[in-house]
Amino acid sequence: MNISPLISARRVVALTGAGISKESGIPTFRDSDGLWKKYRPEELASPEAFRKNPQMVWEWYAWRIQLVRNAHPSRGHIVLAEMERHYPEFHVITQNVDGLHQRAGSRNVVELHGRIDRARCTGCGRVYEPAPIEDIPPVCSECNALLRPDVVWFGEPLPPDAWEMAVELASQADAMLVIGTSALVYPAAHLPVLAKSRGAFLVEINPSYTPISSLADITLRTGAGEGLDLIWKEVKEHVEG
Ligand SMILES: [Zn+2]
Repeated sequence: MNISPLISARRVVALTGAGISKESGIPTFRDSDGLWKKYRPEELASPEAFRKNPQMVWEWYAWRIQLVRNAHPSRGHIVLAEMERHYPEFHVITQNVDGLHQRAGSRNVVELHGRIDRARCTGCGRVYEPAPIEDIPPVCSECNALLRPDVVWFGEPLPPDAWEMAVELASQADAMLVIGTSALVYPAAHLPVLAKSRGAFLVEINPSYTPISSLADITLRTGAGEGLDLIWKEVKEHVEG
């Protein structure tokens, strides 16, 4: 495995998806189990679903928020936080909403899909963090309007600031790690393509084949934690040796 471009890189970006949080016990969007199995994500995570039944949507979110609160960062999250301290410029761009990167110690995190444990007033826009889920559906203490989860739902655009930042980081990166994301969901899927077209060294860590695999310089067919451990060990050996 020749990872020398990653060893000499100054600007490194990690794009992460559900695969890294799965190792923290957070079920991926597509395989929520139990009670919610009979619903498609689109039936719970969309503006239409919220308009129709805010109570039900909030029950689902309250359940997921509890999962996130009880979860711990995985090995992969921890390695990425260590890498941030090593490289002159290191950013995580994540499609996850669980905040586990920050809890692992990462500081430069761009959240493309918002944060699940945060609510936003549909009336005045006030932000509540953590999300108040004692009474469901929660309402704003200022204006009494309904609060909604501060995440990006199906059919909604990404937060423009986060997206702009992600594009800038991808286009300037010397190396990009694509971890635990099928890279199927646009526009996030555009980021590795952009980085590669600007000359970045592309490393993919994913147990399954994805559309990024054919583009990647190196692919590790492993889980997030195992793959990052391997890569990080290599980088450290070269630096120390
Ligand atoms: Zn309000």
